Amino acid sequence: MSKTKLSEIGEFGLIDLLTKDLVIKNKSTIYGVGDDAAVIENNEKQTLITTDILTEGVHFDLMYTPLKHLGYKAIVVNLSDLYAMNAIPRQVTVSIAVSGKFTVEAIEELYQGIYLACDKYGVDLIGGDTTSSFSGLVISITAIGEAKKENIIYRTGAKNTDLICVSGDLGSAYFGLQILEREKRVFEENSNSQPDLAKYSYLIERQLKPEARKDILETLRINKIKPTAMIDISDGLSSELLHICEKSKVGCKVFEDKIPIDHTSAIASEELNISRITAALNGGEDYELLFTVSLRDFDKIKGLKDISIIGHITDESTGKNIVLRSEEILELKAQGWKSPD
Ligand code: ADP
Ligand code: MG
Repeated sequence: MSKTKLSEIGEFGLIDLLTKDLVIKNKSTIYGVGDDAAVIENNEKQTLITTDILTEGVHFDLMYTPLKHLGYKAIVVNLSDLYAMNAIPRQVTVSIAVSGKFTVEAIEELYQGIYLACDKYGVDLIGGDTTSSFSGLVISITAIGEAKKENIIYRTGAKNTDLICVSGDLGSAYFGLQILEREKRVFEENSNSQPDLAKYSYLIERQLKPEARKDILETLRINKIKPTAMIDISDGLSSELLHICEKSKVGCKVFEDKIPIDHTSAIASEELNISRITAALNGGEDYELLFTVSLRDFDKIKGLKDISIIGHITDESTGKNIVLRSEEILELKAQGWKSPD
């Protein structure tokens, strides 16, 4: 198939091509792409805004990241931040800086992933900016959401004796990345090698095509549970739990044997010789939700699908600790902690 140079259609041609089929989904989106600014109707709700920049070579490697997946993930990680505040995402803006090595078709692929995520999560693309870069691709996304004031969940509300809960499983995305990096090194040494990634497809999908846990908020709402504090896990459980503790001025005690780890991660852990608990605590990019609930909600939360209770909040003076399987107690560290196994 012939490829089109960006210079053939120009900046405005590209914007047109990327946004020509846009259909607005949300009532609050009054005006999207096509003027100097987009217009959003606010009413009585509060507006939440979050933004992220992804830089080629720092945040993603196009050797093993398909552009469609990259576009999808770029949207999802921003929506995950809004869900972590218990907000409903409504709009996104997407800004890109593109170097000459990208064709029009490549950028269209990126946008296929962007639109797929927008459709799945019901958000409108309402604008952005397009510019050139000397090397590589930079993507900046801003996501806008809304919530009633009383529904917003901050990092600050965790109280002594609250239960600490986490959705899904942890460490899989990190193992996925390690597998992809290993295959890249093998490929660089021998370009005829055909990697067998089938047995790790779950881990690779967790790395390349994560989802935001909209469904968990739904589960909590149906079961009439309102977390006291919440955060999404982008940098590993340790670092996020420390954020909640610091913002809420409390301590915590979590248990190694309660931390949810998928069996595929356990297999990869053996093969790669990386401790699974280290991956869960420090790996990152899980995009699961970490939240605290009142002890009174124990009966409501125990047994809920895809939610694990991993410990409890303590008084600030007792510190932030993890109890290992060996019963040894270690202080949680944001990075660099290695388990003895
Ligand atoms: P301005 O010169 O006022 O910044 P632009 O010509 O950059 O406007 O953009 C025209 C319209 O296209 C605006 O509505 C802008 O938000 C939108 N837009 C520009 N780049 C992108 C992009 N990469 N993705 C989506 N919308 C975009
Ligand atoms: Mg512009």
